[in-house]
Amino acid sequence: MHRWRFEADSGRLLEQEHLGSEAGLETDPELGTRLLLLDDTVFAISGTRVQRLRAGRFVPARLPELPGLERPWELAAARNAAGTFVWTSQRIWWRPPGEHAFRLLRTGGGRVPGYRKVELQEDGRLRVLARAQVLQFDPAFDAGPAWRPRSRIDRIQLRHADGSLELLPRQPAAPLPVPPGAAVGLRLGLSAMESEFEFRYRIPGYQARWSEWSGDRDLLLQHLPPGDHTLEYQGRVRGGVEAGPERLAFRFQPFWYERWPVRLLFLLAVLAAAAALVRLRVHRVNERNRELERRIAERTAELEQANRKLAELAVIDGLTGVPNRRALECALARGWQRCAVHREPLALVMVDVDHFKRYNDGLGHQAGDALLRRVAAILTAAVHGVDEMAARYGGEEFVLVLPGVGLDEAVARAEAVRGEVERSAAGGGPACTLSMGVAVAWPPAGDVAGLLGAADGALYRAKREGRNRVCVASGGAA
Ligand code: GH3
Ligand code: MG
Ligand code: MG
Repeated sequence: MHRWRFEADSGRLLEQEHLGSEAGLETDPELGTRLLLLDDTVFAISGTRVQRLRAGRFVPARLPELPGLERPWELAAARNAAGTFVWTSQRIWWRPPGEHAFRLLRTGGGRVPGYRKVELQEDGRLRVLARAQVLQFDPAFDAGPAWRPRSRIDRIQLRHADGSLELLPRQPAAPLPVPPGAAVGLRLGLSAMESEFEFRYRIPGYQARWSEWSGDRDLLLQHLPPGDHTLEYQGRVRGGVEAGPERLAFRFQPFWYERWPVRLLFLLAVLAAAAALVRLRVHRVNERNRELERRIAERTAELEQANRKLAELAVIDGLTGVPNRRALECALARGWQRCAVHREPLALVMVDVDHFKRYNDGLGHQAGDALLRRVAAILTAAVHGVDEMAARYGGEEFVLVLPGVGLDEAVARAEAVRGEVERSAAGGGPACTLSMGVAVAWPPAGDVAGLLGAADGALYRAKREGRNRVCVASGGAA
């Protein structure tokens, strides 16, 4: 780019300036670079890139809005009393004086004009040299309000839930009732001379944003939530003037189950079912708790009984049912204390079944056991009160503990037992006798072990002296 400055009168060259890439100018090797003087601004257009000259440098810039501009590298501009004109080989734009926006001048029919030369006449007319004709534009002819295309609907069709189609009048009832499950097919149109249109639409409250501009005229509205909706649609000439948006109201009718009384009923039913379920669960849990408590109580009772039994077993002899050796030791210790406190005698009778081994061998161990039980019963019958005790000492040996009983009475009691056992055998049963040793202590003199030893000694004397008798420890007492 070169810039010259001349002296007005003489035409003498004053200054020559070259502005190239060092001034930021970008060039396009294929399409070249074109300079455009528009609104006192120098634009440099290289292909689709636009720069402008500012303070001796080219900087990125934007052209004024030219609707439908496709070949910016062909742009040329001129101005006269009728306004400013800008053109390419395809299109011409005009901006009347005092207006801001350029409008696309239409020659009708949508043909590609192929403008070669555009000439501005001083009377304001524009002559355009096209491929096969000369066109003339008279601004006065277009003086009225700018003509705008109008968006419209060319076809409305209902597609029912069963697939059947129903064509509706193009001016349907407002709002247009849409039966449950039906879809609405729309064909959009534009009242304009041109043939290339674009459309966009939106449904405020459902799809609030405008759709992209698209050449597709057919629109299907379906699956919208029940209720009232408004479709806003708008058409425009491709790359050109927009028509104003139009509206179409719909009422999408709900399915029976989408109606609120049905929904309410359904909700209530669900709530009732949930409540019943909860009640059932609570009932079951309670039931199970009760069952659990019952079983715990049962087990506790069983356990208590088992414990009682265990405690008894610990002190009762399993075979004969009389106190065992452990109980005997306790009773002896207790009796010793009592007698020591009350200054009373403590008598002890050691009992042994005679020839019991023979009895067992001859009649069997079960008979032996039965005999032991019989002897234990007779001994138990011979003791009175809570302090006296007949206990099994071990094997076929028993002991009578007789606190507060003197030697004579102890011997008498032993004799009574011996006699009864002897008699019971004589009454038909196999022969059985007892040998016994009697000893008496005066607590606190002596001790329990000494008393036991004395009674044992007397018992062995009874064995030695021929069995089936009662012997008294030497000196009567331990
Ligand atoms: P003695 O007259 O000298 O006392 O002779 P004995 O046979 O009675 O004495 P020994 O000590 O020789 O035998 C005791 C027997 O008692 C041996 C044993 O088998 C038997 N015996 C011990 N405990 C039981 C029991 O619980 N049941 C039975 N059936 N027999 C028992
Ligand atoms: Mg013995
Ligand atoms: Mg014996």
